[in-house]
Formats: sequence, structure tokens, C-alpha cells
Amino acid sequence: MSDPVATTRLVTLLRRPGPEGPRPDDFEVVERPVPPLTGGQLLLRNIAMSVDPSMRGRLEVTEKHYTTNFEIGAPLDGSAIGEVIATEAPEVAVGTVVRHRLGWREHAVVDASTVTAIDTHAAPVGAWLGILGQTGFTAWVGLERIGEMHDGDTVFISAAAGAVGSAAGRFAKLLGAGLVVGSAGGAAKVAQLVDELGYDDACDYRAESPATAVPRMAPDGLDVYFDNVGGPHLVAALHNMRIRGRVALCGMISQYAPDGRGQDINHLIEAVLRRVTIRGFIVRDHEDMRPEFERTVAGWLRDGSIEALQTVTDGIDHAVDAFLDMLRGGNVGKAIVRLDTAYRV
Ligand code: NDP
Repeated sequence: MSDPVATTRLVTLLRRPGPEGPRPDDFEVVERPVPPLTGGQLLLRNIAMSVDPSMRGRLEVTEKHYTTNFEIGAPLDGSAIGEVIATEAPEVAVGTVVRHRLGWREHAVVDASTVTAIDTHAAPVGAWLGILGQTGFTAWVGLERIGEMHDGDTVFISAAAGAVGSAAGRFAKLLGAGLVVGSAGGAAKVAQLVDELGYDDACDYRAESPATAVPRMAPDGLDVYFDNVGGPHLVAALHNMRIRGRVALCGMISQYAPDGRGQDINHLIEAVLRRVTIRGFIVRDHEDMRPEFERTVAGWLRDGSIEALQTVTDGIDHAVDAFLDMLRGGNVGKAIVRLDTAYRV
């Protein structure tokens, strides 16, 4: 089938961030040709794309984070949902909606073997990027396998209003946690955590140090700490773990900028004394858990136990703003960019 689109708009990295961190003019929206399809390939019109904290690390040249870092002059990439508009893969029909890895562009050419079809009747597109997608799955793996959460446990979650954190808080409650407490930036987020997102208590880490807030919120100690942030949050949690508590190291957003890596963890004796298990994880190593996760969370969405929570920005021209805003804490729930406004996300 001939390609119906000759060019597409996409976001490239113009230069690596300076010491003040990434700025809008480090990126550029450009128009580039869409390559012709070859056998086994699909042409997608992207509907929505994800902006993630891990992309911050990928702007740097120095180290690899989750995957290969972005190259100057090349398009960024990341999780996205697109509709097939042309196909050279007989097993995937035009009109199929798929999850894939080539976000940050309005159209993408992908190998059919790298995409997963999603059911937009079961849940809207945004949910497949958020609560039913990689971020919800991260929360699930972190609680169930890494945190080994049990009925009645006390659970502390940092970046609690974000995509992973807001999913983790609600999952923890639905999975039987006794007390769920969280940390987020700002009074509005703290109120939302308690009033709408099922947290029993929450703190604003900008106004109250985690060292003070954690024992105030969980005076009998923590069974599980779900760490999205690192730094002083992790130290405070270590000082408040119960004997044989578990720390699930999910991410360290306070350390992702090159100048954020200065704080050593010299408090590990606390883990020794408390017999704490500290375990880092990367969600893609736990695919065996995905069917149970999708079945359970799709059921919760259907019966109203849980809702997809997202902050939506419209248009490729605003994708960089959405990304930088998420890094500053501008999002509640999953930060996504809608690229095709005809779709309900
Ligand atoms: P979020 O939606 O949580 O967005 C990031 C949030 O981090 C912001 O909203 C902001 O909220 C908070 N934040 C930013 N800077 C700081 C800081 N210095 N200290 C404390 N909080 C800060 O993103 P995700 O849910 O997508 O990701 C959450 C974490 O999970 C990240 O660390 C990410 O890297 C990690 N992750 C790990 C995976 C894995 O496989 N291990 C997979 C996916 C994500 P606030 O207003 O509260 O400051």
C-alpha cells in the first residue's frame, strides 16, 4: 500500500542541557520526510505520547539510564499510542490502535513485530499509557513483587501524586494495605492525595522535611517504602522502617540532573539493624506479571474502583513544555501529550 503521508513533524534534541537543566530552546520541532514502508512495517498516526522522568537522564551524554540516550539532531523517542494508517504487515490491519516506542512525532514508521495492539473499548488511550500501561505496571511490580506487600502493611510512597505514585497509592489500598501515606510537592497535591486519591495522610516535602514528616504520618514505622525520589526521602524512610521492611527502589527523580547526585547514602546501617530488604527494579524485567496486572486493573477501571488520572497537553508544539512541566511537578497522574485531538484520551 502506498504511504499517504510524505512528511511529519517531530521533536529533535538541538543541544544537551546546560547546568541550569533542560530549557525549551534545547529542543526543536522540525518537519522530516516519512520513509517509505518496507515489508513488515506500519505507518502510524500518533494519537498520544508519554513524557517520562527517565527522558531527563537520556538528554545527557554521560551514562545510559533505561535505554540508549538521545542524540543531538535526532528525534526523541518514547512510549506512544498510534493508529495504523498504512500497512505492509498483513497481520495488522489499517485502523488497529497500537502501543509502540516512537513518540515525539506525529507519524511513525515501525516494524509490526515491535507493537502491541490495544483495546480502546476496554479503556481509553490515555489509560493504556498510564494506569493500564507502563506506569501502572511499574506501581504493580513495585508493590507486589519488589515490596512484597502484605495485608495490613504500612506503605510510604514518594512522588505520590505522579503517574507511578498515584497508581501505587490506589493499588496499595485495593490490595489491602493498612495505612498508605505519601509525599508530594505543594499543599494542593497533598490535599488531593488525601481527599481524592485514597491516601490516609500526606506531606508537602517542600514545607516539611521527610525526616519529620515520615514518623509523624506513620508513627509505628513502615513495612514498605516505594521510592520514586531518592535523597532525603530514602534516608527518612530507612530511619523509619520496621524490622524486615522492604524498600522498592523505583526511581530517583531528585538525582537525575547531573548536579543532583551528590547525596551519599551513608545511613545504610539502618537497613542492617532493621533487617531491611532494599531492591531496585526495572519494570521491563517483570513481563510475566503483566497479564495478571492488566486483568486486575482493567477490572478495577470497569467497576469504578479506580480511575485513570492524567494531565493532558495538546499538540506536538507543546510536547517539550509538557515534559519540562512534569519534571517541575506540574502534573498530577500520568503526563501525556495528545497528538490527535479527534481522540478521547
Ligand atoms: P511522575 O508523574 O511522578 O512525575 C515526576 C514527579 O516527580 C513530578 O510530578 C514531581 O512531583 C516529582 N519531583 C520532581 N522533582 C522532584 C524532587 N527533586 N524531589 C521530589 N519529587 C520530585 O513520573 P513517573 O510516575 O513517570 O515516574 C516516577 C518515578 O518512577 C521516576 O523516578 C521514574 O524514573 C520512575 N520509574 C521507574 C521505572 C522502573 O522501571 N524502575 C519505570 C517508570 C518510572 P512533585 O510535585 O511531588 O514534586
